[in-house]
Amino acid sequence: MRLKRFQRIGLGIILLIGLGTVASAGTAPDTNYGSLKGKRIFLDPGHGGTAAGDPLRIGPYGITEESINLQVGLLLRDLLVQAGALVIMSRTTDSDVELPDRVRAAVQSMPDILVSIHHNATIRGGDAVNYPCVFFWGSDTVNPASFDLARLLLPRFEDLIGIQGRVLSDFSVYPETGTLLLRETRDLCPGVIGEAGFITDPEHARRLLDPTYLQAEAQCYARALSTYFRQGCPTATARFSCRVDREGPAKNMISEAQPDITLELESGTDQAGIDLSTLALSLDGIPASFEKVSDEKVRVCYGTRIHPGMHRLQFQFRNGNHQSSMVYTLPFFLEIHQGDRERLIREGRAFLKRSSTRQEGLKMLIAALSINPTAPDADALLYELAQGFRACGDEIQSQYFLERLYYFYPQSSLRAGIEGRIRTARGCRFPADFFGKEAVIVDAEKGGASQ
Ligand SMILES: [Zn+2]
Repeated sequence: MRLKRFQRIGLGIILLIGLGTVASAGTAPDTNYGSLKGKRIFLDPGHGGTAAGDPLRIGPYGITEESINLQVGLLLRDLLVQAGALVIMSRTTDSDVELPDRVRAAVQSMPDILVSIHHNATIRGGDAVNYPCVFFWGSDTVNPASFDLARLLLPRFEDLIGIQGRVLSDFSVYPETGTLLLRETRDLCPGVIGEAGFITDPEHARRLLDPTYLQAEAQCYARALSTYFRQGCPTATARFSCRVDREGPAKNMISEAQPDITLELESGTDQAGIDLSTLALSLDGIPASFEKVSDEKVRVCYGTRIHPGMHRLQFQFRNGNHQSSMVYTLPFFLEIHQGDRERLIREGRAFLKRSSTRQEGLKMLIAALSINPTAPDADALLYELAQGFRACGDEIQSQYFLERLYYFYPQSSLRAGIEGRIRTARGCRFPADFFGKEAVIVDAEKGGASQ
């Protein structure tokens, strides 16, 4: 990690969890890594090439975080390659690779999983502070697959050093954004930053001088990855009964207003099916239901029709091993005709007035907004959406539309009236719209898939 604040947080946590005992290193090699075969794994040994000018990452005995990160990374690479995995590394030497370059390398390598290897430090080197933690981006609800991976990795570290640790959101360190690498790869694959221990703790630093210990730490990662893949990485394909134009100016233009949209779910392992009770669906941020077609196939229930404009289907589910899929997102578009926007606003407003038709009204206003987000009355639509979601009991969506109005329409006359609700807002950092791995789509015409 890069900020001094991180070390301060570390110091805070140790007061809560206390010091434990340290287990001996050098666990017998575990070669049962069959599930790793054929997997693409991106390894990022943190930092590099800057130790001489970076006192925050130098521990007792002159050890440096970047050097330990690299040694563990190379040992882990060898374990994974022996198990038949394809490993891509952000660096294999003591070189200074900029964070954006690490992101670029990760994205280009299209990995199944991403692991960034770090070791923690206190600001005042030499403090006897040591515990493991594993970071993932965001929250367990917006990034459940990475959270699952983090929860598998942490106990491996805890067993190794005999100290209780924490799985943490990287927002605990960078409250507004999370870490660059995990943020920019959040929709690519599950990813975590491992911090197996503190280089600044004299006792732990001595341990880190021992190659056998570093091998044991590499095995922690290999075991966690192996377990993760063995439990299966659930995936999904969305099938439209109509034609989907992927080449046109609008994203995934559909040719009908009432298509069958089915989701074909795969558990990612032969040992477990899909747990359909965990399937959570939303269309344009509004919870949607589904009909079961088979154990691994459902039909999306979206009401009577798809309205003209832009839409986003989001879903997430778990397999029978309780391992989560990524959050999937599926943007699509239905062609707009003259007068659609005005009609949607007129009918949507009427529907919003009655609780029985309120959700349909929200869908219509969202569709109208998507048709022209910069129209002179767009701020009024945002306000009505905020009020409508509030009436439906969805405070998060309500707050999202309020904030969109407040921050992006600075000259709106509605701004003054909502100031109090913006100032006191809490917990609305994850509006439903903008996250997710894009789902594979299959359409009626060609039967071909694209991503
Ligand atoms: Zn680091």
